[in-house]
Amino acid sequence: MFDYHMHTSVSFDSEATAMEMATAARDRGLKEICFTDHMDYCRAPHAENMTFDIADYNRAYDGLSVPGLLIRNGVEFGLTTWNQQELEDFLRLRHFDFVLGSIHFAQDVDPYEKRFWEGRRVKESFRVYLEEMLACVKVQDNFDVLGHLTYACKSPHNPTREPLLMKDYREITDEIMRVIIAKGKGMEINSSGVDSVGVFLPSADYLRRFKELGGEIVTMGSDAHNAARVGQYAKEATEILREIFGYVCTFADRKPIFHKL
Ligand SMILES: [Zn+2]
Ligand SMILES: [Zn+2]
Repeated sequence: MFDYHMHTSVSFDSEATAMEMATAARDRGLKEICFTDHMDYCRAPHAENMTFDIADYNRAYDGLSVPGLLIRNGVEFGLTTWNQQELEDFLRLRHFDFVLGSIHFAQDVDPYEKRFWEGRRVKESFRVYLEEMLACVKVQDNFDVLGHLTYACKSPHNPTREPLLMKDYREITDEIMRVIIAKGKGMEINSSGVDSVGVFLPSADYLRRFKELGGEIVTMGSDAHNAARVGQYAKEATEILREIFGYVCTFADRKPIFHKL
C-alpha cells in the first residue's frame, strides 16, 4: 500500500517530523510514501502565503531513510489562475518526484474559512469552488495529479456537512476531468474526508467516471498531518482502485509508475 499525500512541519499546518511520519508508514505496512508539503500562494490582502523555505524542505527530507520504505519527495502546490510562474520557479529549486495540484482557494477564500460559506447556500458554495477548480486546471500545466476534487465539503464550516455529490454537478465535474485527462494528469483518492463527511475525496463514482472518460493515472493519499493518520483508510482506498482500475500509481521523476492491485 501507498500514501501519496502527507504533511510534516515543513507545512504551515503540521507539527509532525518526517521521521515520525515515515516510521508510522513503515509500521503500518506501507511500501512507499510521498511527502507533499503545502506550497500555497493567496493574493487576498489579509492572507499570508502558506509556503515553505526550500532549505527547510531539504533539511527535513534529504538523507531521511527508513529500512523497508521507499520515500519520495513531492509537493502539494496550490493551483490558482495566476501562479503559473511561481510554480515554474519553485520547481527549479530542487528535484521533485511528484506534484499534487490542489485548489485551496475559490475567489481568494479557503473553504476552511467560515466566510467562504456566508451569504449563500451550500450548493452555491460548492459550485463556486468547482468553477474555480475548472478555471485553474485550464490554465495550469505543470502538475501531475489533481488533489482532492471535492475538498470544499470537508470544511468544518460547511454548515450542513453534506458531501459534494457528483450527481449535482455532473456537467462541471465532467469538464474538470476532461481537461485534466487531455493534459495527461491524474486524479487522487484522498481519505481525509471519510471521518469528516463520510466519503473519500472524491468518492468512487467520480473515479469510475474518470475512467469512463479516459482517465488513467490515479494516486491514493491520506492527507495526514500527524503520524496517527498516516495510511488511514488505505485498505479501503486500495479496494476502490482495485475494483475500478486494477492498479494504483506512484511517481518517480514526475512520471507515473503503475502498480497492479
Ligand atoms: Zn489540500
Ligand atoms: Zn494536503
